[in-house]
Amino acid sequence: MEGEQDGGHRFRDPGVRLWHFAKEILVRCPRCDGRALVAVRPDHRDGHRYAVGWLTAPHRLTCPACGHVAEWTPQPWRTGEGDAYFSSRGVFAVPALGGPDDPYFGLPLWLRRPCRGQVLWAYNVAHLEFMEAYVAATLRERPRPAGSQSLLERLPAWMKSAGNRDEVLAAIRALRDAA
Ligand SMILES: [Zn+2]
Repeated sequence: MEGEQDGGHRFRDPGVRLWHFAKEILVRCPRCDGRALVAVRPDHRDGHRYAVGWLTAPHRLTCPACGHVAEWTPQPWRTGEGDAYFSSRGVFAVPALGGPDDPYFGLPLWLRRPCRGQVLWAYNVAHLEFMEAYVAATLRERPRPAGSQSLLERLPAWMKSAGNRDEVLAAIRALRDAA
């Protein structure tokens, strides 16, 4: 393949969406500042046909370090407040994914770090490693047509810039080491 000869490696965008990595979100525990987990409550984990089903399911924060537990329940949707999910249980607001805070409790993500005057963040280690593979690649496929919203297409320009590659990779790896 062209490009392989100059030492580059190719990265094909698999079309993964951010919600793929939102099933387990590492956050900073509001009680002890340790690493806590936000995830769908165990008794609501199954039976979701669509991603929006578990995105709006009850979530629980658990902190292995101090034992802190907090519950999040689905919020009724109101006009003008983001996306709505019409379910048999009612109309719920879909938590807005993105940014360095978790979309349920609004707590700082565990995996966040300043980089290039911005904040690099990830929900979990798999999310970090996915971005690492993309940023490390020297050959990236052209984005697909507009309208598609894969995780990679939504990454900010400063993370995609070849000139920032080394710094972004160093930040990702530092986060992974601290995970
Ligand atoms: Zn804690």
